[in-house]
This record gives sequence, C-alpha cells and structure tokens, in this order.
Amino acid sequence: MKLYSTKNRNHIVSFKEAVFKGLPPDNGLYMPVHIPTLHNDFFQNIDKLTFQEIAHAVSEKLIGEDIPSADLKRIINTVLTFDAPVMVLKNNMHVLELFHGPSLAFKDFGARFMAGIMSYFLQHDQKHIMILVATSGDTGSAVAQGFYNMPGIRVTILYPSGKVSEIQEKQLTTLGNNVTALEVKGNFDDCQRMVKEAFLDEELNHAMLLTSANSINISRLIPQSFYYFYAYAQTKKYGKPVVFSTPSGNFGNLCAGLMAKRMGLPVHKFVASTNVNDVVPTYLRTGIFSPRPSIPTISNAMDVGNPSNFVRMVELYENDLNALKKDIVGKSYSDNETMQAIKETYNTTGYVMCPHTAVAYLGLRDYMQEAREELCGILLSTAHSGKFFDIVESVIKAKIQLPLRLQETMQKPKQATLIGNTLADLKKILLSMATNH
Ligand SMILES: *Cc1c(COP(=O)(O)O)cnc(C)c1O
Repeated sequence: MKLYSTKNRNHIVSFKEAVFKGLPPDNGLYMPVHIPTLHNDFFQNIDKLTFQEIAHAVSEKLIGEDIPSADLKRIINTVLTFDAPVMVLKNNMHVLELFHGPSLAFKDFGARFMAGIMSYFLQHDQKHIMILVATSGDTGSAVAQGFYNMPGIRVTILYPSGKVSEIQEKQLTTLGNNVTALEVKGNFDDCQRMVKEAFLDEELNHAMLLTSANSINISRLIPQSFYYFYAYAQTKKYGKPVVFSTPSGNFGNLCAGLMAKRMGLPVHKFVASTNVNDVVPTYLRTGIFSPRPSIPTISNAMDVGNPSNFVRMVELYENDLNALKKDIVGKSYSDNETMQAIKETYNTTGYVMCPHTAVAYLGLRDYMQEAREELCGILLSTAHSGKFFDIVESVIKAKIQLPLRLQETMQKPKQATLIGNTLADLKKILLSMATNH
C-alpha cells in the first residue's frame, strides 16, 4: 500500500513509513493512493468464513505487498483473539458488539492490530519507539493494553484531568512498566493539540522516534474495516440492504466503514451518529464545516469538536458533498435523549447499552423510520455498558455485573503525572524520559 498526504498528493510513502510516522510532516493525513476492491467470489462466500479469515482476506488485499501473507495471518491470529458478534435487538435492528477485547471497547481492534504490525516491523530493525497518544478515555486504555510490555516500545498517554470516567482513568493509569500516564490540566482538544505539536517539534524528533496511536494512524483504521465485513457476513442471510449506525467522535470508525464500502462491501447507508458535538451532521446538512470547542456529554469518548478524520472522509469523496450525502446521513442527540434510549431499550428488550451505543441506536432507529424500506439495521456497540456503570445504573435503576477484568483494574492504585496544557510541559517530560533511557 502506498499512501499520500492529504495536503500534498505528490508526497508518497510506504505503508511502513505511514505506520511509524502517523502523520505526514506537512500536517495532512495519510490516505491510500489506491483502494482495491475484493472479488465477487469473496462476497458470495463471506458467510462461510471466520472473522480471522475475513480479516486476512481484507488485509492481504490492502497490505499484502508490505507484509507476506503468512506473516499477516500470524499477526491476525495473535491480535484478533476476541469475537465481534451481531446480536438481534428487535425487529430489523441488530447490535454489532465490539467490546469483547481487553479494554472492553472497540478501540482494542485498532490498537492490537497496530501493535502487531509495529512489532513485526521493529523485529527487523531492532529499534526503540515512543508511542504518543491523546485520549478522551477509551483510546488510551486500548493502546496501553495493546502495547503493554512490548519490547522496544514505550507508551505515553495524555488524558484530560477530571474528564474521563473513574474506570477509564483506572484503565489508563494502573498498568505501569512501559506505559506512562500524563494527566493534563485541560480538555481533550488540548491533549490532541499537544500531541500534534509534539510530532512537528524538531527537538523531540531528534531525541526519539515518535509514533502516533490515535485514530489518525492508518494501521488503526484498517482493522476497523474488518468487522463491517464480518457484520455483513453475519446478516447476509436476511438478504436485506444493510445500514450501519456508527457512534462517532473523531470519525475513525466511520471512515473505516466507508473504506470497506469502497472495497466493495454492499452498504446501503451509514448513519453518522453523534452527541451534541455535531459538527459533521451539521456539515452534511449545510455543507459548512465549523470546528469548535467540544462540549462535555455522557458519551464522553465522542466529545470532539474538531474530528481528526473529517479530512479523510471528504477526501474519500473528493470533496463532493452530494456524493457524501448519498452514503452518509448525520444524526445528533442530547444526553436526555441518550438516557431515555438506554432506559427504553432496557425496559423493552432487557439489553443494556452504554451511552455511546445508545447514540448509535437513536441514529439507526430514526433513519430506519424515515427510510420506510425493508432494511437490515446494524448499530455499532463501541463499549461495554459496565465501563459507564455509574450513569447506566442510575438510568436503568438496576445493577450491572462488571466483567472480572474490570473489577481487578479498579483495585489497583492510580499512577499519573499532572501536567499543564502546553507543548513545553509535554516536552519536559518526554525529554527527561529520553535521557533516562
Ligand atoms: C472512541 C470512541 C468512539 C468514537 O469513535 P471515533 O472513531 O473516534 O469516531 C465511540 N464510542 C466509544 C466507546 C469510543 O471509545
């Protein structure tokens, strides 16, 4: 796979370079020069394949020239060790459960695949790298788990002080060893900006090999396309056009779905479901994209005011708003509507959704009502409800059983360093780590 920068079509890099650089030096985003399509045969027989087999076929098509088939297969079998089942919710609505990985959120797919790919490349080069990641909650824990104790790799996580849940904070700050947690006095946009600035800082780039792990990294995007194919495979038997509703913040997850469609996956429509941080639904409605500071909500992993993958979305459609609108419909919901959806769904079906999942549910429900066609609706459930037990329990008025892994994490002491929200604050810490090495 060759990739170009969205700011310069002539800046072309290899897959490996894009994985380790994360961002092009011109501050654009890496995009595949060419997105291949899978054969009809593949889609004819897709329902007979396992998740790993589907992932292997898709990744081979994309990066088969960069990593030999047998190595790809080994990486996939090592990192994709958990399922992504489609459950029936009601009528034609289904839930694609993406929370069966180690951090109980969908970001495990991206983080573990990226860790597998990086360690494959590093084996050959015998290098040390520093992973730098800003998180609004779930990215950090998925990345931390994915890279935990991996030789040659250190991970530094920036998270906004007081703006992640207690569970999220514990998942970020209790691993230790090669994982360092920085608690930033600011919001998620500050964290994201500091990371972006660090990648562009010459002094830091001289001192260490910096690598991104946010959804901007192409190796996180690729595995997120696998489960769209797998969900299609699981619902092919219904023979109805498929609609995906993706609860979105930085829009990496949705972008991966759009890439799957570009690879030939028959998707009728995507619903871009957001909380009140609705810059993309607004763009789809008005054609005007105006980033703004994020507003805190109960679906806090989606509190993003300037979605980093927006550029990729419009790039995929060559800036053609009408083409985008053909494939994607935007929907946004308040916290009240979200809580109402959690409650109603629990009362009528017994199914417990996390707040992010509930936003996707609302988007799917409303779209399917408007569409008035026979559709197969699939909403992406991006986290286990137990990760947000305080809010969810208060809404459904019942106890949630926390997974064992989570109960253990909650017992461990927090280890984090409190820092200011400027690049200078971050540099001081990173440079001291580099000299201690
Ligand atoms: C990160 C996250 C999202 C948003 O995903 P994007 O790819 O940033 O759009 C939604 N739900 C949960 C639980 C998340 O952790």
